[in-house]
Amino acid sequence: MLKEGMLIVLSGPSGSGKDTVLAELFKLDLGIVQSVSMTTRKRRENEVDGIDYLFVDESVFLSAIESEKMLEYAKYGNNYYGTPKAPVDNWLADGKIVVLKIEVQGAGNIRKMYPDAVSIFLTPPSLEVLEKRLRGRGSEDDEDVKRRLDIACNELSRICEYDYVVVNDDLMSAVDDIKTIISAEQLKVSRRNNLLSEVNK
Ligand code: 5GP
Repeated sequence: MLKEGMLIVLSGPSGSGKDTVLAELFKLDLGIVQSVSMTTRKRRENEVDGIDYLFVDESVFLSAIESEKMLEYAKYGNNYYGTPKAPVDNWLADGKIVVLKIEVQGAGNIRKMYPDAVSIFLTPPSLEVLEKRLRGRGSEDDEDVKRRLDIACNELSRICEYDYVVVNDDLMSAVDDIKTIISAEQLKVSRRNNLLSEVNK
């Protein structure tokens, strides 16, 4: 187990397949935990409150910010999204690998707070594929799809801020790439203080 845990930030445009990739990654039982974000967005039909998100109204969200319960938050489209602080702090202290599935502004804030965080950008193979996926899932109306595509262009222009980029063309190779990133990060000298003190005894 890692002494101080590892924080992984996974970003990527809406429709890049973050949820599907994460679902496959969890099947591998690598001991990863995922933070449940709070949002003011409306729940989609297939989503469960408390599992996919904590769905709250704006006053609850703003009061969580006010009382410093959020690690980071951002406005995406017309809604707020944010990461509750306490579970992440506890998991990291416990040596867990914690995944935050967040957009680019939040990722930037996390990088400032946690310089050791590993940031991964999941990208679709092309904007055409992205649009097809967004329209295909049918959970957003036309205006929302257009808004998400606009945001995607801005997000794609910020890939260079990330440590790694993974192309989600083939699902299982994307999962494999993320698994490789995690394994390599676990072997970094800077994360192996315990081992080094043993070896140097
Ligand atoms: P969606 O509405 O598609 O579920 O999410 C929209 C965007 O918000 C996605 O890019 C998602 O990763 C991001 N997001 C979800 N939770 C959080 C969060 O806690 N903080 C931030 N900054 N972004 C989030």
